[in-house]
Amino acid sequence: MKHIVITGAGPIGLYTAIMLKKKGVENVTVIDPRANNYTRPGYLNQNIAGEIAKSLGEAINFPPESNRHIKDVERALYNIAEKYGVNIQQRKFSGFTPGGMEVTDTLGETVFLPCDLALDCTGARRVLVHEVNREIPENPFPIESLFEKPEHHFIAYVKVNSEDIEMLNTLSAKLDKQYDDIANINHVLALEKLRTEFGWPYFSEPYLQFKEMGKNKICFYFEIPPNLPATQHKAWLQALLKMKRLMRKACWPFQQ
Ligand SMILES: Cc1cc2nc3c(=O)[nH]c(=O)nc-3n(C[C@H](O)[C@H](O)[C@H](O)COP(=O)(O)OP(=O)(O)OC[C@H]3O[C@@H](n4cnc5c(N)ncnc54)[C@H](O)[C@@H]3O)c2cc1C
Repeated sequence: MKHIVITGAGPIGLYTAIMLKKKGVENVTVIDPRANNYTRPGYLNQNIAGEIAKSLGEAINFPPESNRHIKDVERALYNIAEKYGVNIQQRKFSGFTPGGMEVTDTLGETVFLPCDLALDCTGARRVLVHEVNREIPENPFPIESLFEKPEHHFIAYVKVNSEDIEMLNTLSAKLDKQYDDIANINHVLALEKLRTEFGWPYFSEPYLQFKEMGKNKICFYFEIPPNLPATQHKAWLQALLKMKRLMRKACWPFQQ
């Protein structure tokens, strides 16, 4: 029986391993130094558990009160993969060798791992694909971007007290109704402040989105000026939020 090695124990690597096992492939190994150490906070579509459960024919057990983070899916898939007997190793792919690959463990020791078929599930890194392209001069797997990455976008998870969360939610609900001439003037003044104090180069308002992420936590996703030093990131977010508040004339004592 062929030995399949999947590089990457993120959602796709684990899902693929489970599906191979379900199809009767005996020898499935997954390698990833991050395996079973899942901490990613990325927020998920609420339907994801149902979708995965339906396609795998397995119950997906999220912890109670979970906010459906990527780490919850990874942990659930890891448990299912273990149940199906997938061999999961905390090792990193380092290169191909005849009959297999070299993998490095968490102590830095490199060993040979036999492999008949290698699957690249390293996400955007595409570690194996790059390695094949490096080894074979014809560059068999050319990689092209589907779209230009947005520049200067930033994500911040911020602890916020419950009163401020309530204010934020009220604020976003009232956006259209409260916009008037005074708000317009405030908008221009606040935007000018962002331009002069932080070097925001545009005349349009920076993009800002926020979403509640569990108890007293908000995820802000926003644009920042190019080359803004890290020491100014917090002040930038505060200024951005202040601008939103001025525009809406809301009484909003947001301090964080
Ligand atoms: C900044 C950012 C924020 C995101 N936020 C969200 C979000 O909020 N919600 C959402 O749904 N999606 C989000 N995404 C997208 C989501 O992370 C991906 O769609 C998803 O993780 C892809 O899963 P994957 O299994 O293909 O790859 P990944 O999850 O990237 O897994 C790849 C795995 O390969 C491993 N690996 C890498 N190199 C090696 C190697 N040499 N040897 C062995 N293993 C290796 C890595 O450790 C990793 O575990 C975000 C992505 C980014 C970059």
